[in-house]
Order: sequence, then structure tokens, then C-alpha cells
Amino acid sequence: MIRAIVGANWGDEGKGKITDMCASQSDIVVRYQGGANAGHTIINEYGRFALHLLPSGVFHKNIINVIANGVALNIESLREEMQTLIDAGIEFNLRIGERTQVILPHHVLMDTYEEERLGDRKFGSTKSGIAPFYADKYSKTGIQVWELYNKERLLDKLKHLYEKVNVQFKYLYNKPEIDYKEVYEKLIADAEFIKEYVCDTSKLLRDAIKEGKNVLFEGQLGSLKDTDHGIYPYVTSSSTLAGYAAVGAGVPPYAIDNITVITKAYSSAVGEGPFVSEIFGEEADELRIKGGDKGEFGATTGRPRRVGYFDAVATRYGCEIQGATEVCMTCLDVLSYMETLHICVGYEYDGVVYKEFLTTDKLYEAKPVYATLPGWKCDIRGIKDYNELPKEAKDYVEFIEKELGVRISMVSNGPKRDEILYR
Ligand code: GDP
Repeated sequence: MIRAIVGANWGDEGKGKITDMCASQSDIVVRYQGGANAGHTIINEYGRFALHLLPSGVFHKNIINVIANGVALNIESLREEMQTLIDAGIEFNLRIGERTQVILPHHVLMDTYEEERLGDRKFGSTKSGIAPFYADKYSKTGIQVWELYNKERLLDKLKHLYEKVNVQFKYLYNKPEIDYKEVYEKLIADAEFIKEYVCDTSKLLRDAIKEGKNVLFEGQLGSLKDTDHGIYPYVTSSSTLAGYAAVGAGVPPYAIDNITVITKAYSSAVGEGPFVSEIFGEEADELRIKGGDKGEFGATTGRPRRVGYFDAVATRYGCEIQGATEVCMTCLDVLSYMETLHICVGYEYDGVVYKEFLTTDKLYEAKPVYATLPGWKCDIRGIKDYNELPKEAKDYVEFIEKELGVRISMVSNGPKRDEILYR
């Protein structure tokens, strides 16, 4: 089976756990977009890990893990992440696409400088250099992995690139200029470090698909952060959709036959942008502390996440643009303390209730229309069979399923790998 596991919302839906769970049945796990700017939390027999760049198959020795061409490769972050696994005694099998582009030092600095310059108008960047990276990529001044092994060409390219970058650093940001020769030395060392993993990953994947292998594409962030279909400009700079897996990894679009979309039983988001069902104050603090496995705080940045009630309008849209063939709902156990559950079923804007996801300006003005259901008020962790859930918990899942129009095939009732209820 060729499966994509992607997010329906703003990211942090719990994709890491589901990917880790499904990884054991895969031959290859692939990252195809984004970079080290978000993270999955995975809890397994080795401990608790935050993965940012490495695919979730790294915990299984026999699985090939691919960082494909569409990824923003930060070699420094990769090295640190690999070290964490090595220290924990984990052996893994990694491949890096020869056409994958690398994050350069100015990308990271530029993210910071640009947010400073924007002040109140900032995007809430994770400052991992992702936006400047993709800007360079699409202006064709970026550097692909294969270019690291042609030293003369690399030095010349960096010289020209930093002539332009330094004008911006000096005159726009008022910051020190970058010495391209230092960047060159760093890249030569980086190139040596990754050399043994580099190959044509698109061919590897196309061959694997022809041979009938099981491939898992692992999405980062979620539908609403997609550059073209999300809450622009509060989006990420690469496509977060399952459809992009084919592009970023270089495989036929028709090869992907299962698109599992992950959504959390409530909403959470990081960064700026509209969030119609957001809650505030003590109510939000309680959900934030009880959320996830260690509270709703970013896996990469540690920032407190914004939280809110389940948004069925945003999630239906998120599932549709992903092309969901099934949905997995995570963190149902988190809601066990709530007396009453609210589900946002419409957006009221300018006196009209909309069921469709609106453009960013309208989302800022829209008021949530809620349906309410009674809570179940008891701990549901430890339950192994969906039918054994309290009636109120099943009603909640089934109400949402109707709103989404896609089958909820899995419900997660705890952060551990085996805390999953199949339907
Ligand atoms: P991802 O980026 O989509 O993988 O999401 P994150 O890993 O950033 O956030 C999800 C958080 O929820 C992590 O801390 C997970 O360990 C945790 N988690 C996943 N599924 C469940 C669940 O069913 N219940 C609880 N309580 N936590 C969960």
C-alpha cells in the first residue's frame, strides 16, 4: 500500500504517533516537504523523541527512511537529531535525495531579521529559515545536495549568492555581512557528513512502488498551513498536502492509494493567523495543560500552542483538500474532563452562517456557531475496544464523522503506540 499520513488542521494533530504506528507495516517512510520547523512527538519503547527532519520509520531497523527532494534540509539539525538516536542505541537506515536543497546560514538569520523588521506584522515564524529557503529555491539560487560535491562550482555560486544577500543584510537589516568562504567551508564538512546517505531517492521510490513495496509518506503541518489553500499569509512555505507527496518525492500521483488524515479531538495552532474556535483565559489554560501527552507546547519551539474547540468547518475543508480516504481522530482522552463539548459547525460572517472555509480576512471576523454535546466525564485511557467507550464519547466521534463526511477509522485515546481504537 502507498499511504500518505497528513494533517487536517494547523499541524500538531498527532501525525507522529500514527505514522510511527503505521511505520512498522511499511518498507519505506518518506518526508517530502518542509524542514526542521515542526516536530513530531513519538513515544515508544526507546523513550520520548521529538523528530523534526528524520522520517518516523527510524525506530525500525529494517525500514528505509527517505528525506526526499522537496524537503528543506538543515544538515546541522539532522546531525543533532541523528546523534540523539545514536545515543539511545537506535540503528536506522537513511537516504537523502541528491536533488534535495540545503538550508544555508543566511536563511535562518533572515527569518529572525525579517520578523524583527515586521514587528507587529510578523507571521509567527519558527525562525528555521524555511521561508527564505523556499524563496531562494524558487528563484533558483538555492543549492541542491549534488552541488555540494562540485567544489569549484559551489564556491562560485556562493560568491554570487552572498553578493546579493549581503546587500540586504547591510542595508535593509543593518546586520553584519556573511563571509561566503566560511559558508563554503561549512558546506564542505556537511557534504562529507551526509555523503554515505545520498542517492537518487525518486528512483528508489519509483522502483519500490513497482515492486509492490509498502511506502508511507509523512506530511508535516496540516491543510490550513498549505501555501495555496491555507490561511495565507499565515501559512508555511511548502505544500502540506498529500498531493504534494508525489511532487516532492518524485513518484506518480496515482500511486498514492490511501490518504489518512489526522485531526485532533479539539483544535490547537501555533503562530499567527485567524482561529475561529479559539478559546482564551482559564478555559484555554486548562485545555493547554491537559492536551497532548505533556500539554500543548510546540515540539520544536516549546511555545504554548493556541487552543480551541473542534472546528468541523475547518476540518471538513482540511479533509477535502487532502483528499482524505479515512480520518484518524487523536487525543479523545484529553476531553474527558469536560462537562460539555462544543463543536464549531458554522462560521457566522456578516449575518450569514457559512459551512465553507472562508478567506483569511473573513475568518478574522467570523464568529463560531457551536453545537453542544454532553461530556463523558471519566477516564477513557486503557479502553481497547471502540464499543466500550462511554456513549457520550462515541456520540462525539460520530457527530464529527457526519460533519466531515469521511469515515473516522481510528480513534486515539492516549499518546502510546497501542492506545488506538479501530472502527
Ligand atoms: P504531530 O506534529 O502531528 O505529530 O503532532 P505533535 O507530536 O506535535 O503533537 C501531538 C501531541 O499529542 C504529542 O505530544 C503526542 O504524544 C500526543 N498525542 C498523540 N496522540 C495522542 C492521544 O491520543 N492522546 C493524548 N493524550 N496525546 C496524544
